[in-house]
Order: sequence, then structure tokens, then C-alpha cells
Amino acid sequence: MKTILLPVSATDPAAQTIVAAVAQISAGQLVAMPTETVYGLAADAHNPEAVARIFAAKGRPTTDPLIVHIADQTQLATVAIDIPALFFLLAAAFWPGPLTILLPRHPDLSTTITAGFDTVAVRMPAHPVALALIRACGTPLVAPSANLFSHPSPTTAQHVMHDLTGRIAMVLDAGACRIGVESTIVDITRTPAVILRQGDVSAEQLSTVLGDVIVQQRTLATNQAAPAPGMLLKHYAPRTPLTLLRGPVAAIQHAVVRMQQTENIIWLCYADDAVCAARAGIATIMLGARDDGVQVARQLFAALRQADAAGAARIVVAEPTGAGVAAAVRDRLFRAAEGVFTQVE
Ligand code: AMP
Ligand code: MG
Repeated sequence: MKTILLPVSATDPAAQTIVAAVAQISAGQLVAMPTETVYGLAADAHNPEAVARIFAAKGRPTTDPLIVHIADQTQLATVAIDIPALFFLLAAAFWPGPLTILLPRHPDLSTTITAGFDTVAVRMPAHPVALALIRACGTPLVAPSANLFSHPSPTTAQHVMHDLTGRIAMVLDAGACRIGVESTIVDITRTPAVILRQGDVSAEQLSTVLGDVIVQQRTLATNQAAPAPGMLLKHYAPRTPLTLLRGPVAAIQHAVVRMQQTENIIWLCYADDAVCAARAGIATIMLGARDDGVQVARQLFAALRQADAAGAARIVVAEPTGAGVAAAVRDRLFRAAEGVFTQVE
């Protein structure tokens, strides 16, 4: 299959581009679409063959459920039932936006989508292209991240092409994603609500609506049944071994300089590391200011891909500081490091 790469305006998508993408979705094919978080691989949620194609194209295990994307709340009618009152408060506060909400699954919705669970994950993305496509298709779209399973999520159309060219029908290229890490996932079918994955909508923001909310701890096993398969460690791992450092800046810089003496490393560094790196002759990829979670989140997955391509023996990175989306970045780095960090003093 030849993958069609179509440029599209991120703010004002041309009707003819959306029509071309709708034709693919209606034919049961897969279209990678930009969202504000990462690129998603979209298929008609009500077409079982199309849903099966998603798992095949990504090499994704069928135990890993898909998020259903909608453009307006009337589309929930064929997706979820018994919608709790809290849902409407969350939707009013955070939709369209980077928040995925677990709801009781509609009995007619394929359990292939939900990996056999009785809950379904639903999101309304805040991206004009994604919204235009879902609306024009007139059906909810399942859309996991448009990467090969276990690769870092794609934040540009080029990342999607790198992983999936020849395996999917079309990629809509609207440039880099604004947020850069996947949506926050919250389960409101339990009391108190549980955050299954951290993202741009923070626990603090959710608690303003939900009151009590728990952040679910990550699991270490890669083969055990978990409530959220995305919680498994190693999910975001680059191929190159990654060392995650925690500690004061000076101690981190000292540790990296010492690592450089015995190993060919690449350093995903912050602005205040640049002088140290240059002096020691260490290869770097710049993530931005250490305390600027928004900027670091935008760079993270592109930086991991670039670091993998650089051919170093080891990637070294320290945690960013700060609140908000920085917490999601720390979570992804922890997983990329397979749940191991090195404390330096
Ligand atoms: P992706 O769209 O590739 O970022 O992955 C979607 C993630 O959403 C999965 O890996 C799960 O962690 C989560 N998810 C989707 N549906 C459910 C569900 N019904 N219950 C729990 N987690 C879910
Ligand atoms: Mg994914």
C-alpha cells in the first residue's frame, strides 16, 4: 500500500482534504490525523475490519484498548451508557481537550476496541483537523497514537511516516502537535476517580471538578493484566538504553561528564546544561528550559526519536522540574527508563 501524505492547514483545513480522508475512513482504511496531543491513527469505530486493521498496522497487542474520539456529545449515544453526572462537569471544563474519560461501554460497541473491558475511553480532541474529520465522517473514530507499538508517540507527520509508511492509507500533515504528550486518562466509573495516565490536564485541575482523585501507580510487569495497559513500564522506551537521573543540577552535570568518559552517550539536556556539555564535548539534544514543562513536553518524543537515530550507546536525561504537564513528562521518562532512575547527590 502506498501511503498518501497530504498537507493540511492546522487552523482551517480545506474541505477537499477532509473529503479525501473521509473517503478512506468510509472504505475501512486508516488515516493518521493530527490532534493537540500526538498524531492519532483513525478508523471508523463501528467498522470491525477497520478496527482490526489498527492493531495489525501498529503491531499492537489486542489487550491494549483504543480511545474513541468524538466531535460532539451526541456521538456518545452509540459508544457509552449510564453516563455519570460527573462526566458532564468534566466535559464542560476540559473538552474539547487533552482529557480522556472512561465511561460504561455501550453493549453494541465492539469489545475489540475496549480489549474486553466494560468501560470505554472517550475523548473530544481540541484540533480543528481532527474535529473536522470526525464530524465529516459522521461516526466516532478510534484513534490510538499513530506509531508502531512501543515506539515513542508521533508528534509530527514525519514520525508517522517513519513508523507506518506502506502500512496505512493516508497521513494528514498539519505540522507539530501543540502539547506533545498523550492525553490524561481518568476513570470516573470508580469512586474516587482514578487518573490512569498523566497528561496536560493535571491532577490538581481534575480535583477542582472531581474533589478526591487518585493517581494510579505504575506497574512493573510487562505481562500482567492491568486496568490500563498504557500503565505498563517500557511502553515508551526508545531502542537505545536510557539512564534517568534525579538530583541537584550540579550533581547531574558532574555525573553526565563522568559517564561520557566511559561510554558514547547522547544527553537530552536543558538550557542551563549547554555550557557544561560544550566544555566536555558531549553530544546533546536540547529539551528547553528545565522548568518549562510546556516546552519540554513538546520536544520530548521528537528528542527520543532523534536520540535513537544518533546511534549512541546510551541516552542520558534528567527529570524536568515544575508542575502541570512536567509531571506527565516525568512519567514518560520513568517509563522510557523502564522504571529505574539514578539518584545523584
Ligand atoms: P494510545 O491511544 O495509544 O495512547 O493508548 C490508549 C490507552 O488508553 C491505552 O493504552 C490504555 O492505557 C488506555 N485505555 C483505553 N481504553 C481503556 C479502558 N477501557 N480502560 C482502561 N484504559 C483504557
Ligand atoms: Mg500509544
